[in-house]
Amino acid sequence: MKNCIFCAIAAREAEASLVYEDALCLAFMDLFPMRPGHILVVNKRHAQFVHQLTAAERAHLLETGSRIGQALRATSLKPSALHFNINDGKAAHQTVPHVHLHVLPRYDGDVLAFVGGIFGKPVQLLRGGTRREQLERQASEVREALRRLPE
Ligand code: 5GP
Ligand code: ZN
Repeated sequence: MKNCIFCAIAAREAEASLVYEDALCLAFMDLFPMRPGHILVVNKRHAQFVHQLTAAERAHLLETGSRIGQALRATSLKPSALHFNINDGKAAHQTVPHVHLHVLPRYDGDVLAFVGGIFGKPVQLLRGGTRREQLERQASEVREALRRLPE
């Protein structure tokens, strides 16, 4: 879809720090992370809403998110918990109208930092997001942890 940043990333027309890719989906580091290690799992075919995916695409998105979450837990980021979250429509805070699953690390007692991540978003946007080298370092750790996961 034209003018869709996630379609552009899937087509390699926009930069992203890739963690995983297969025929149905791809995963990359969020450029404006709510917490360090925030990953987006994106359906390859453009669709805005979850109900517009095929049953296979929907199932695959969660299955892939689950593996990526498991891999994240094995990295040096060592989250103590994860959010698996989909914002399905504008009023539910969907800002990129292309289905994606957030895999978002959480830590014991990190409420203030988490809320800071929400309210700090405009500042992150102004700054152009997290430095690419940092995102690449994190992506490389997650890719390596994925390789070590049992099937
Ligand atoms: P939503 O609010 O639609 O559920 O989530 C969209 C996510 O995409 C946000 O967490 C936002 O930080 C992220 N995002 C927006 N633009 C880009 C981009 O150009 N590259 C990457 N990697 N993430 C983006
Ligand atoms: Zn798209």
